[in-house]
Amino acid sequence: MYLLRKQFDAVVAVFAVIFILVTCSGRTESETLVNKDDVYLTLVNKTHELPANWEKLVQIDTVKNSLDETIQIEHKTYASFLELREALLSEGIQIELDSVYRSVEDQQELWDYFTEEYGEKYTETYVAVPGYSEHHTGLAVDIFVIKDGKVIRENDEMIADRKDFAVIHDHLAEYGFILRYLEGKEEITGYGYEPWHLRFVNSKEIAEEITSRGLTLEEYLSEP
Ligand SMILES: [Zn+2]
Repeated sequence: MYLLRKQFDAVVAVFAVIFILVTCSGRTESETLVNKDDVYLTLVNKTHELPANWEKLVQIDTVKNSLDETIQIEHKTYASFLELREALLSEGIQIELDSVYRSVEDQQELWDYFTEEYGEKYTETYVAVPGYSEHHTGLAVDIFVIKDGKVIRENDEMIADRKDFAVIHDHLAEYGFILRYLEGKEEITGYGYEPWHLRFVNSKEIAEEITSRGLTLEEYLSEP
């Protein structure tokens, strides 16, 4: 009987430990939850992880660009992108979706592949840590340009194409988009200048304020 009692105590102790482990890990996750109303102004960067409940709050659609490539993108972001695209077409510039939504699992696979092929140091420099890429939100849109039948898609080509990207950037706010990684703000965003990386904020007014004041999303959201 004594032995049984002892075994019972041991089992209780094990369950107590499991309970503590489960509730503690639950608590750390709940620190990064987001309210439905704040979805479009959620900050995800190298120090702000994707909220744990994100996938429950956004609708990710699967669409095709005009090169018949499959893209995943948040529902409202896509509707606004199509309007932006239409407006730019009338200025003679054709923009297309490149990379938009990437799940944390996809990013992990990318991370593991790079680590195996190129080592940890290289991977840390060039690949976003899984959970900390804005592309997990489905609101961050990488675009490329087709001009006179020519595809302008390499990063260097796009950075050099100042004229077209100036026109593109001029139209973003009107459709609720901002340019996310600005020149000269690398220390705030953690990224170099990327003229192709847009971010949907679902508000023309907010996008216009951020753009006209030359702010990053980090700066705008840290204001009282
Ligand atoms: Zn991007």
